[in-house]
Amino acid sequence: MKKNIFIILFLLSSISFSQTIPYVILISFDGFRWDYLNRGITPNLDQIKNEGVNALSLRPSFPSKTFPNHYSIVTGMYPENHGIIANNFVNPFTNEVYKLGDTISVRDSKWYLGEAFWETAERNGIKTASYFWPGSEVKTDHRRPSIYEKYEHNRPYKSRIDGVVKWLKLPEKKRPHFISMYFHDTDSYGHKYGPNSPEINQSIQRLDSLIGYFKIELDKINFLDSVNILIVSDHGMTEINTNRIINIENILCGYNVKFGGEKPFMTIEPEKNEIDEVYELLKQNENHYKVYKKSELPERFHYSNHPFIYSLILIAENGWSLVNDSSFEKMNNSYSKGNHGYDNNHTDMHGILIGKGPNLKSNFKTGTVWNIDIYPLLCKIFNISPRSNIDGKLERIEFLLK
Ligand code: AMP
Ligand code: ZN
Ligand code: ZN
Repeated sequence: MKKNIFIILFLLSSISFSQTIPYVILISFDGFRWDYLNRGITPNLDQIKNEGVNALSLRPSFPSKTFPNHYSIVTGMYPENHGIIANNFVNPFTNEVYKLGDTISVRDSKWYLGEAFWETAERNGIKTASYFWPGSEVKTDHRRPSIYEKYEHNRPYKSRIDGVVKWLKLPEKKRPHFISMYFHDTDSYGHKYGPNSPEINQSIQRLDSLIGYFKIELDKINFLDSVNILIVSDHGMTEINTNRIINIENILCGYNVKFGGEKPFMTIEPEKNEIDEVYELLKQNENHYKVYKKSELPERFHYSNHPFIYSLILIAENGWSLVNDSSFEKMNNSYSKGNHGYDNNHTDMHGILIGKGPNLKSNFKTGTVWNIDIYPLLCKIFNISPRSNIDGKLERIEFLLK
């Protein structure tokens, strides 16, 4: 008898404990520009933004590229502090390369200097899962969500949703309460056809329908009203064309330099004794770009404080591309009408943040929010302490919560 009462009490306490842990599904639509939501073609997303919270835009961190920003969202840190300073970069002290497409480097935890939300959550006893997210598949066990999928670009979108629904059906002990998801569609179509094309509108509609499907599936398992769904994007997109290309290597004839960065921004490492000379030359030729010495880069970029960032930083004017001889060849041979990576203050680079769920306000509109503030927001939802060394600030975003 005594034993039975003990079991009942234990079961009751575990039920009430599980009820107090919220659920958050963080969905990223790569390259979904803020204004794509205002085109009148997104009924399912409109429903979320009208019923829940809706930010005018989500300001990315610099550089407005995929890996740096996905990692800023889950760590609350600027790229200069979390270490993923570009999609591809080199450790100039060892010549080791970090590369988005290279599974060995993206799974090596030594590059990731931040603590991702899934690590913070798991340390606090909260189960997490990831159906793709940069940084989620590192080989070091305690730095990963307890459930994760290795990135597969062509994995059908519906099977990603079915996979997440399956995780939500796991017994409570194994069920993740924080889940990340990723869809590349609007980035790929934005690059290929540009942000003002019929093709990007079809891509926007595809993702919208997918959210419709997800809602139906969540409803079937009685989860629709108990999960917080947060939909974000890592950056926006702007139109580019082959008439707006500057080959920086032409300006630097005769100098031996290393190039880093990607077309909308470029980083340059001259020989040690030639840094000032190369800077002056680039400054004299400054046209449709800005050049800065790393030490003089305006603070708002937060892109000086990492030893792997080269000595000179060039940022192209919106819509322009900076290349060297080898990337000029590639660009001329590819058909590309959109890009991102520019100044993160430019609104074309801004993404979205909308959400709905028990912890989020209803019918709430706000202005632009910053992506580094999402990590402390997640910590607040789960009532756990964020890391003390983050750049994000809860007070800039907390008002989205009930
Ligand atoms: P970009 O437009 O160059 O900034 O990067 C977008 C690309 O990043 C997408 O087309 C994906 O192929 C790739 N990508 C996104 N997430 C991952 C991931 N977790 N692992 C590997 N590649 C990824
Ligand atoms: Zn992206
Ligand atoms: Zn992209």
